[in-house]
Amino acid sequence: MMYRFQEEIYSCIDCGKCWDVCPVNMVTDGNRFTPQGKIATLAKIVAGEELTKDEMDNIYLSTRCGACDDVCPVKIPITDIIQYERELLAKQGREPAKTTAISNNIIEHNSPGAKDPSKRFDWITDDLDIAESSEIAYMAGCWVSYSQQEVARATIRLLNHAGIRPMILKEEKCCGLFLIDSGHFGQAAEHAKKFVDYIESLGVKKVIASCPGCYLVLSHDYPELYRELNFEVEHSLNVFKDMIDKGILKPEKLDLTVAVRDACPLRETKDVPRSILTSMGVEIKELFDGKQVCCGGPAGLKPNFPDIANDIAMLTVQSYKDKADMLASYCPFCVHHMSGACESKGEEMKIKDVSVLLAESVLGDHFTKRNNL
Ligand code: SF4
Ligand code: SF4
Repeated sequence: MMYRFQEEIYSCIDCGKCWDVCPVNMVTDGNRFTPQGKIATLAKIVAGEELTKDEMDNIYLSTRCGACDDVCPVKIPITDIIQYERELLAKQGREPAKTTAISNNIIEHNSPGAKDPSKRFDWITDDLDIAESSEIAYMAGCWVSYSQQEVARATIRLLNHAGIRPMILKEEKCCGLFLIDSGHFGQAAEHAKKFVDYIESLGVKKVIASCPGCYLVLSHDYPELYRELNFEVEHSLNVFKDMIDKGILKPEKLDLTVAVRDACPLRETKDVPRSILTSMGVEIKELFDGKQVCCGGPAGLKPNFPDIANDIAMLTVQSYKDKADMLASYCPFCVHHMSGACESKGEEMKIKDVSVLLAESVLGDHFTKRNNL
């Protein structure tokens, strides 16, 4: 009997290309945890056979960053297979306890860390012009709402400056990316339905998201998990790039050299943050010769394997220091993870979100004074 993905796995030509780009393999010895190795255990998982500790760990030692998918010459959908393996292991009651706990937090408390929902909008300050009702809604997402509030304030101030008064989603919740990465499709579909129905009930025509993960989940995964959406989803940087191109936002020169910490979900549109930074006269240096290397945090790597996740974060932190004044990021989860890794390793890191840099450039003192930076 054939099992799902069997043909794809058999098509592997053993080239090792996925080994070289995998951040987990970069920081661990002896090629114990390669992407190729992750998919090779599918047959055993389908059969419900016992896995060795390394085999089991390897399934969860992936951020699902997609770097392996991008280089596989025979187009094996490696990240889909990892997701399927996790789905099977969850159904068999064999997933790590932390993965189950975080998934339950999302369902029961609407955020991965079970944060207090009454504090989700603590980022809102009196000077932000937020409409009670609008066709445009702003979604900050969990990491911005709870730990990088300056990103939300910068975004709203830039939108206000461009004449837009967005509404917020008063019942905003986690997008559910972790559920999807963990193969919890039933929970993810239910979550998607509730959130989409709620957003549509508000008459919203466009959601602007600050987080690349939220953007990807709403625009790409919800239609697959539930149905086509009756609203558009845009990442905030796309909105800002358009406004700069049309002369609505007029950046002033910032005297800075930055290395860009690219976000894996938006790795196909890396030109957008670069175009925004260039419009501010910022000099850009490329990390890893322009190749995408994940920050190491997502998809359960950080909670389940903190030491490996921190070592991966250090690849970015160490590589920017001999190139640039600071890192420019556009993913709040990268910032969250790398800040935690630096703390545990006693390292310094200078990093700012591209939206915050843009607000400084367009709004100048007016922004920095009021932003409590
Ligand atoms: S998705 Fe990223 S972390 Fe996972 S196996 Fe592929 S390259 Fe490694
Ligand atoms: S890149 Fe693709 S073909 Fe090459 S070893 Fe990895 S899975 Fe196999």
